[in-house]
Amino acid sequence: MKRLLRGGRVVDPANGRDGVFDVWIDGDRIAQVGRDLRVDGDTRIVDVPSGLVVCPGLIDMHVHLREPGQEHKETVATGTAAAVAGGFTAVACMPNTSPVIDNAGVVAYVLKKAAEANLARVYPIGAVSRGQRGEQLADIAEMKAAGCVALTDDGHPVSTAILMRRALEYAGMFDLPVIEHCEEQSLKGEGVAHEGFHASSLGLRGIPGEAESIMALRDISLAELTGGAVHVAHMSARQTLDAVRYGKSRGARVTCEVTPHHFVLTDEMLGAPVAYDTNVKMNPPLRQIEDRDAMLAGLADGSIDAIATDHAPHHADEKAVEFDRAPFGIVGLETCVPIVFEKLVHPGHITLARAVELLSLNPARILRRPGGSLAVGAVADVTVLAPEASTTIVASRLMSKSKNTPFGGWTFRGVTAATIVGGRTVFTNPDAPGAAVFA
Ligand SMILES: [Zn+2]
Repeated sequence: MKRLLRGGRVVDPANGRDGVFDVWIDGDRIAQVGRDLRVDGDTRIVDVPSGLVVCPGLIDMHVHLREPGQEHKETVATGTAAAVAGGFTAVACMPNTSPVIDNAGVVAYVLKKAAEANLARVYPIGAVSRGQRGEQLADIAEMKAAGCVALTDDGHPVSTAILMRRALEYAGMFDLPVIEHCEEQSLKGEGVAHEGFHASSLGLRGIPGEAESIMALRDISLAELTGGAVHVAHMSARQTLDAVRYGKSRGARVTCEVTPHHFVLTDEMLGAPVAYDTNVKMNPPLRQIEDRDAMLAGLADGSIDAIATDHAPHHADEKAVEFDRAPFGIVGLETCVPIVFEKLVHPGHITLARAVELLSLNPARILRRPGGSLAVGAVADVTVLAPEASTTIVASRLMSKSKNTPFGGWTFRGVTAATIVGGRTVFTNPDAPGAAVFA
C-alpha cells in the first residue's frame, strides 16, 4: 500500500527538517520526503490536518512489559497497546521478568508475543547476569543472536565492579550497550524516598542522590577502562548528571536517559496533595527541586541523551498498601507525550526538534535500531502529534493493564494523534481533531 501524508509539519532532526513537507510511504518504507511530491496513481492521499506534526516514530528505551511471569500487571499485548496509544512505535523491554530474560529462549518468547500483538516493535533487553543474581554473566552471544539489543540487570545495579568490567568487555564484542540502574546498594539500604526534609518529616527512610552518582562514576570509569558503552538509566540526581558530563568530557562512551516524572515532579509530593501516595513511590525516588531543575537544564543543553518512561505497571492491590511496603514504579507510556509538550516544549525549555531527538533519534542510535529518521528507505515508523489538543489523564481509561499513575486528573496540552508502524496505522486518537484521516 502506498500513502502520501501531504502537507504536515515534518520534524525530523536526523535529516535537518522542520517545515511543511510531504511524506510518501511505500509499503513499510519511507519512499520520498519533499515539497509537492508527484506520486503514483495508486497512492492514497492523506491531507494532514493543519497544525499536526509528522515525526519519526517515538522509541521508549525503558519499559517493563512484565511478561513472562507477571501478567496480572501487564502483558506484551497490553503494554504495546499502551505504547502505540502513547505515540511509541517501538519499546525496549527490561529483563526482570519471571523467568528472567537471560537466555535465547525467553528472548524468543517475548518476540513471539510481540509478533502476535502486532502493534509496537519490541526490543528485548537481556540480563547482564544469569537470573540477574550478579554472579555469572548471562549467555550474551546467544541472546544477541536471538534479537536482544542491550544488556541490563535493571531493578538492581550490576553488583560488582569486576562483573561490570567483564560485561562491558564482552558486550563490546557484540556491539551491545550495557544499561545500568545506578544504585549503590549499601547507601540505598532500606530507603523508600529521597533523603531530605519531606521524607524525614513523614518518617520515611531516605535514599541520597549519591547512591546513584557513586555507581554512575564507577561505571563511567569502567567504560573508559574497557572502551565499552554504558547507558545510565532513569537518572534522577544532579550529581549523576555532573558525573555523566564528566565522562562525556573525557570521551567515555556514556549516554543517559531521564524519565518524565523526574523532570516534572519532586519529593514535595510525598506529603501533598495526598500524603503517603504510593503512586509517587518509584526507584530512583522523586528528588528535590534542585535535582528536577538540573534535569531540565540537561535536557536543554544537550547533556541528556534520551527521555524514557521506565513504564513500571503494578496491580492496584499491590499499590494499595503502606508506603514502605508498596512496590516502586509508575506507568508512563501514555502520559509521556502530553508531559513533554506541556512541561518542555510549550514553555520553551526545548524545541520540538530536540524533543524528537530525545524521544526517537537518540534512542534509535543508542540501541542501534532502525528508525529515528524519516530518510528515504528508512522504516515507515511515524508518529503524528497534535501539539494544541488537550487531554486530561484518566487513569481508568489507560490502555495499560495497570493504572498506577500520579498524573490522574492532570490536564496537558499536546497529544499523540496517530501512530504508524511499518507503514500500517496502529492507533488513531479520537480526541485529536482530524486524526481519523490516518486510519
Ligand atoms: Zn531501574
